[in-house]
Amino acid sequence: MKIVPPGGNLSCRTGCGACCIAPSLSSRIPGMPQGKAAGLRCIQLTLDNRCAIYGMTHRPAVCGSFQASDSCGANREEALQLLAELERLTST
Ligand code: SF4
Ligand code: SF4
Repeated sequence: MKIVPPGGNLSCRTGCGACCIAPSLSSRIPGMPQGKAAGLRCIQLTLDNRCAIYGMTHRPAVCGSFQASDSCGANREEALQLLAELERLTST
């Protein structure tokens, strides 16, 4: 996923994929018609943590619009923690 942080020009870490695991996703994903629960790895996330349907029309629109610069942290582990915390805060 691409991120566009406020006032910055950082880009998404290749091979991270934390935002394809930690948050829940209510949109239909090919192979996951009900979306996915928080903490569940998206079925379209490849073993090297890339989106297998990137750029395709059946990729959920929310994936393309995801902007999570503050939650990406300094590395993948931090992103998983921050996004999990964000999920907890926003799902109650
Ligand atoms: S958590 Fe951030 S850095 Fe990691 S894949 Fe998602 S947008 Fe990219
Ligand atoms: S469809 Fe692609 S971008 Fe969206 S959560 Fe799954 S792997 Fe990530």
